[in-house]
Amino acid sequence: MTDCLFCNIISGKIPSKKVYEDEQTYAFEDINPKAPTHLLIVPKKHLAGLKEATSEDAELIGRCHLVAAGLARARGVENGYRTVLNVGPGAGQSVFHLHVHLLGGRNLSWPPG
Ligand code: AMP
Ligand code: ZN
Repeated sequence: MTDCLFCNIISGKIPSKKVYEDEQTYAFEDINPKAPTHLLIVPKKHLAGLKEATSEDAELIGRCHLVAAGLARARGVENGYRTVLNVGPGAGQSVFHLHVHLLGGRNLSWPPG
């Protein structure tokens, strides 16, 4: 999708600090980090968000989480990290291309705000 920020990041039209890429996923540093480790893991296939996902997307969504787990291990934040999908504007979703936030490197309180 040409007007999608994350599609343009995946294609390289908009620069990003890439930390990982495979055939189906792309991961990069969040531009406005909320924790010492704050990465975004996205499917290369455009998918607006979890609400819009279907069972066809199950493997892809699971894969994004497994990439997050691998990155958390590589970053040494396995003592405690959080994977988050903000779903819908009421939960703070501002980019409508599904993305998993990986937050770690500090204490994370519960419940989140
Ligand atoms: P959300 O609010 O859950 O939709 O998350 C969108 C995230 O994308 C936010 O944490 C933003 O800081 C991040 N973001 C927005 N633009 C960029 C960009 N150009 N590069 C990296 N991260 C971005
Ligand atoms: Zn997109």
